[in-house]
Amino acid sequence: MSSPDQAPTPAPDDDDYSPEPTLDEQVQTDLIRHTELIAADDRLIAQAQARRIEHLLDLQDWSEQPQVASRLHGNPENIRRADTNAATMTEDRARAAAHNRWDDHEVARRTIVSETACLTRVAERTIDRQLDEARYLWSYAPATFDAFSNGEISYRHATTLLDQLRTLPDEEHAAFEEAVLSEAKRMPVGRFRDKARRLREKQHPSSIVIRNKSALAERHTLWEAAPDGMGWLHWYGTAHDTKAACDRINSMAVSLKRTDDPAPAGADSDADEEQQKRTLDQLRADITRALLLDGITPDGMGAGIRGTVMITVPVLTLLGLDEEPATLEGYGPISPEAAREIAGNCPGFTRLLTHPETGVVLSLGKTQHKNTKAMKKWLRVRDETCRFPGCSRPAVTSDVDHTDDWAGGGRTDCDNLAHLCEPHHRLKHLSQWRVTQEPGGILLWTSPGKRSYRTDPANPMGPPRPRPPVVGPKTRKRPADESYLMAPRHRPARKPTPPVPDNPPF
Ligand SMILES: [Zn+2]
Repeated sequence: MSSPDQAPTPAPDDDDYSPEPTLDEQVQTDLIRHTELIAADDRLIAQAQARRIEHLLDLQDWSEQPQVASRLHGNPENIRRADTNAATMTEDRARAAAHNRWDDHEVARRTIVSETACLTRVAERTIDRQLDEARYLWSYAPATFDAFSNGEISYRHATTLLDQLRTLPDEEHAAFEEAVLSEAKRMPVGRFRDKARRLREKQHPSSIVIRNKSALAERHTLWEAAPDGMGWLHWYGTAHDTKAACDRINSMAVSLKRTDDPAPAGADSDADEEQQKRTLDQLRADITRALLLDGITPDGMGAGIRGTVMITVPVLTLLGLDEEPATLEGYGPISPEAAREIAGNCPGFTRLLTHPETGVVLSLGKTQHKNTKAMKKWLRVRDETCRFPGCSRPAVTSDVDHTDDWAGGGRTDCDNLAHLCEPHHRLKHLSQWRVTQEPGGILLWTSPGKRSYRTDPANPMGPPRPRPPVVGPKTRKRPADESYLMAPRHRPARKPTPPVPDNPPF
């Protein structure tokens, strides 16, 4: 170490001699060394991601070979059963299935997506998008792929460029890539995104009218969970209000879609035809718009339709004796006050009570084993979402699937039923995915790659109980299912006291 006050040490005659670095020089050298290490890591990460893209491409190419795709497809017997399984599909879904059967290519694609998503614990939608991005980068933006492989730009730079590039017509790709790639090499992602978007606007040959039309086709209504019992319907409010509103919009959209399908013969005009072809996303967006601007949809829907969202409330919380949070379906814990308010006076919510110690759901109202409606409700509470590994589509819009195939003799019983969203329902029947159901609603899945996955029900549930037989005169006013609300001191004393069962029938 040296300081400016000290006289410099005289240099010895040795040619190799180099003076001790000053503190300033040392700090500068260390700064360079530390930051270089991070930049080198970034280059390595980019190179590893580029290799991953090559592997995604290999996987796609492999799965598209006809002899591979046909083997990833389930056997034809399953296909026939899936298409005719009226007990587990709504009428329009069965019709859609019959008209829209997945071919080998589709099953193969969904197999590689689900296998990769489960293995890497990434959402299927993300893997699906990455497969597309890989194909696009390789085919339409080769210079970007090279820059990315060499670690010159990050994966986020590459996908930002791609997002703009793929909205341009094919013949514009090369010119656009040439114009923006050099910017990607010198700008942070945020600024680069802005630059690329502006360049793309300038370069796009279509008029704003045409582009607006295709952007409008992407309209949708979006609900998102926010922390602390809140949510967004891109209106920030309580989770239960925003969720109930979203569910109401969804119920209306589903009901409109049913009346729209199939399209009536000879629609009057292009506009009518376009109205008929609206996707569920578009319908939800149109209904949101109509309700906010007019208070009623053009079809006269407004009053009378309510969403049905379930909340699960611990008994003691409901009685105000405890502050344990309640659970809102599809969201998670909400505050006890909000739960009590909803349970008290909000139509459109289904209230479920849980045992104070075990958390087992106690009652679904009039639960009877053979009552299909009650069983469906029971299953919906148990599952909450599609039961395929990693899937979070809500049970309310999913099919009820027979784990052991109904057409193959599987029972219509709670321990042989589980919710599967439409794509996973079909994937189960049409691919090499296999599943068995264990007691307690646990599903054990085996992937086409022979990997095992387990999915547990969202809520532990006692079995749906039949009503107890009525003995003696019917003097009891309280329905059987609410007997748990009675404090123990109201029960007639019995002797001898029976042992307490694991799951006491409160
Ligand atoms: Zn699913």
